[in-house]
Amino acid sequence: MARKLIAAGNWKMNTTVEEGISLARKVAEASRNNKVLTILAVPHTHLFPVSKKIKASSGVRLAAQNCHHKTSGAFTGEISPAMISSLKITYVVIGHSERREYNHEDNALLALKTRAALDAGLKVIFCCGEALDIRKSDSHVAHVKNQLSESLFMLSATEMKNIVIAYEPIWAIGTGETATPEQAQEMHFAIREMLRKKYGKRVAENTSILYGGSVKGSNAAELFSQPDVDGGLVGGASLNADEFVTIVNSFGRKAG
Ligand code: PEP
Repeated sequence: MARKLIAAGNWKMNTTVEEGISLARKVAEASRNNKVLTILAVPHTHLFPVSKKIKASSGVRLAAQNCHHKTSGAFTGEISPAMISSLKITYVVIGHSERREYNHEDNALLALKTRAALDAGLKVIFCCGEALDIRKSDSHVAHVKNQLSESLFMLSATEMKNIVIAYEPIWAIGTGETATPEQAQEMHFAIREMLRKKYGKRVAENTSILYGGSVKGSNAAELFSQPDVDGGLVGGASLNADEFVTIVNSFGRKAG
């Protein structure tokens, strides 16, 4: 997967199926810039019905918001990577800070989930990012490096083609507080350097790195204009079709 410009919406636990279909349709109708890949991470209940209602030609792809690390078994309430890929869904989000916090998902478990997702043929949007105290102690780059080292860096360079990294500072998620474009660029550059050191220039240059944390129509263009910011993972603002479409259309010259 060559480096792409990506606008990904994370609906979290929002919308009924009907509302989700309507939202996805509006986004799909408006997302016709084929230089930008639009991804919607919808609740599991919505994957099948939404996938049936949006045309493949719209260019919109769907993502699951989580998966289990086992193929099958006695794990009540869980969903396996194979189940997701059997619906012809392309992506799964792994390592979102809300799952790290509320479901106690640590780096070792996220490594297993990533392995399982890739083995099932899914592409992974892998989230990383630091809490406010880590940012304040100026150890945010080391923290993210540790997250990536412990969960992703066991993958081969070939497997990294199926990974999108989403840098999401926890202090900016759902808080209305956004990282400045300079703060985002600093971390994205650092992540690309980590990739270069581990895998070489080709992987570093070809991996899409998204920023997440209170991205809105009003701040997306400035964030996306940073050289190492390849797009956004968007929570709250992805629930409003007009707002999200503004974000999809915020890549300026990068999208030609
Ligand atoms: C997210 O859920 O990944 C996110 C970044 O949320 P928000 O855009 O609402 O901060």
